[in-house]
This record gives sequence, C-alpha cells and structure tokens, in this order.
Amino acid sequence: MDCIFCKIIKREIPSKDVYEDDFVKAFYDINPKAPVHVLIVPKKHINPAQGFTQDEVEIIGNLFLAAQKIAEKEGVFQSGFRLITNSGPDSGQEIEHLHFHLLGGKPLGGLVGN
Ligand code: 5GP
Ligand code: ZN
Repeated sequence: MDCIFCKIIKREIPSKDVYEDDFVKAFYDINPKAPVHVLIVPKKHINPAQGFTQDEVEIIGNLFLAAQKIAEKEGVFQSGFRLITNSGPDSGQEIEHLHFHLLGGKPLGGLVGN
C-alpha cells in the first residue's frame, strides 16, 4: 500500500518520533502549524473517510489516551491543546490514514481557518 504513514510506521521513511505503544505512533508534523504540532497515528491503516468499524473502537480510544500523554510530554496539557482529524475532500485530508493533529504552544484562535 502506498501510504506515507504506513511507511513511517514501518520505518521506511524517517520521522521525529514523540511516542509509541502497541496501537499508536506519534511524530512531529513535517510542516508545523503551531509551536507544538504532533501527528498521532494508529498502527493499523484506517481511512476515516471510509468509516470506522466496531472492532476499531479500542484503537480509536487509544489515540485519545496517547494524545493526553503526548500533551503532558510536550508541556501543553495545562495550557491547552487542540486535536483535529480530517475526513474527506472538504476537510482537506491529504493522507488517507487516520491521524490526529495535536496542536498547542500558543493561543490557537478560531476553530475553522480560511
Ligand atoms: P491531513 O491534511 O491529511 O490531515 O494532514 C497530513 C499532515 O501530514 C500534514 O500536516 C503534513 O504536513 C503531514 N505530512 C505529510 N507528509 C509527511 C511526512 O512525510 N512526514 C511527516 N512528519 N509529516 C508529513
Ligand atoms: Zn496507512
């Protein structure tokens, strides 16, 4: 499968890693939009634009747990952070592998950009 995030998970493409467990890998975004910009990715290839299945709920829950740990590690748990996940054309989703953007380190402003 020609998926950049699958290749990062298999270490075929380098990444600056922040966190890893059985379900999840997290690394810094190559084009950061905030002082802290981490991508949190399930190790299983799931495309949110194709919908989730019940057996993926455990994986999805673990993304949130990982996000909290990463926010603490990056020093933004107290100051606050935003999780964004894109799905489908109007969202601007570039990579067809589920991921959270964890953004923080400054006031992030309005919810939707232009
Ligand atoms: P999307 O638009 O799919 O929600 O976000 C994809 C994100 O992946 C973008 O913020 C982009 O900068 C990031 N990205 C794309 N290719 C790479 C890569 O090879 N390495 C890393 N670390 N981030 C990438
Ligand atoms: Zn993938």
